[in-house]
Amino acid sequence: MSMPAKFRAALHDFGGGNADGALLVKVPARVNIIGEHADYNDGFVLPMSTALFTWATASPRDDRKIRVTSHNVGATCLFELDGIQPGESFSWVEYVKGVAAELEDLGIVLCGADILIDSDIPLGAGLSSSASLELAVAKALLSIAGERVPEPDLAKLCQRAEQRYAGVQCGIMDQYTLNCAKEGHAILLDCRSLEVAQIPIPSEMGFIVTDCGVKHRLPDGQLNSRADECVAAVEILVRDGQEIESLRDLRTDILEANRTALGDVLYRRCRHVLTENERVQSAVQALENGELQDLGTLFDACHASLRDDFEVSCDELEALVSAANASTGVFGSRMVGGGFGGCVLSICRSDDATEVAKEIRANYASVTGKEAWQHIVEPAKPARVISRA
Ligand code: ADP
Ligand code: MG
Repeated sequence: MSMPAKFRAALHDFGGGNADGALLVKVPARVNIIGEHADYNDGFVLPMSTALFTWATASPRDDRKIRVTSHNVGATCLFELDGIQPGESFSWVEYVKGVAAELEDLGIVLCGADILIDSDIPLGAGLSSSASLELAVAKALLSIAGERVPEPDLAKLCQRAEQRYAGVQCGIMDQYTLNCAKEGHAILLDCRSLEVAQIPIPSEMGFIVTDCGVKHRLPDGQLNSRADECVAAVEILVRDGQEIESLRDLRTDILEANRTALGDVLYRRCRHVLTENERVQSAVQALENGELQDLGTLFDACHASLRDDFEVSCDELEALVSAANASTGVFGSRMVGGGFGGCVLSICRSDDATEVAKEIRANYASVTGKEAWQHIVEPAKPARVISRA
């Protein structure tokens, strides 16, 4: 696929020389079919890639500096590869510094580079723009240095970069999906063992992503507090003699026996993680059997659990889920990503997707007056270097 025209023009302005011969990296977006807030609890997730891309181009410099420009934020930053430290406050460039620092920590000697980033993925909307950025930078820097890191290790490296530099205690799902999910497949990922099964997505299943128009801010926001609550719940259960390492090990009988010790809030957080892991397994069966209604019903149950037990919804997401579920041809809908804004995923027949998407937009606009951004999921290849555009 050729690079978008606006990127080609920017590349010339940027000094990338002949755009047709440039080193280009292309990384898709991620849509999680189901398994929300499961990854950092060592649980199961079922994400797929979709054809929205972060593009990066890079050319070597003869010093040890990285100059990175993001079209999306309209900013350029320059930093030295030697002695990289996390910044004092959050900035988008922390993701880039983090990736460079983690690569150097592996013993890879990077070259300085000028990097230009552009992305079709809405930032902070639950479609994994951050992991897409990390992988784009990682692949570009590795390619320039003539080095390779095995795919699972590269996913882990990008996760560490996000945790240590951007300060987001994210799980491994996003980085792993963008690097490893085959075109037209979801991956059933065991976030503890990192075992992966590629699950074909039946062609009659259509998925629509609709953005509710509210952006979350994760670093100082609530994702970390939910992760902290999950850790606190495990500590209480361990103190009470349960042999568990993470909420992944929880069973219904253990949860119910410890309801009082956990207290209402942690009990509900645990119940979400437990039931979500079960829903992921059922969703695999629904995909394998091509059962749209079964998957839709699981979406609705997942959304209710995120809203009531994990408490990560908001008014706009609720309005959008109602608008989507009121649309003809929708089998079920749920919020995706960390929560407190971002997108809703709906399932319909693929042949109907364009019409259904229109109706969702119209319904949402009539309730909120907002024109929602939408994307119909399309299969995409994993993160890769395209040496010529
Ligand atoms: P998500 O990954 O769901 O889109 P996050 O909050 O995890 O949401 O990541 C969004 C953040 O990642 C942005 O606020 C920005 O700091 C950074 N980011 C992602 N893509 C880009 C990009 N193309 N250019 C600059 N920063 C980006
Ligand atoms: Mg992210």
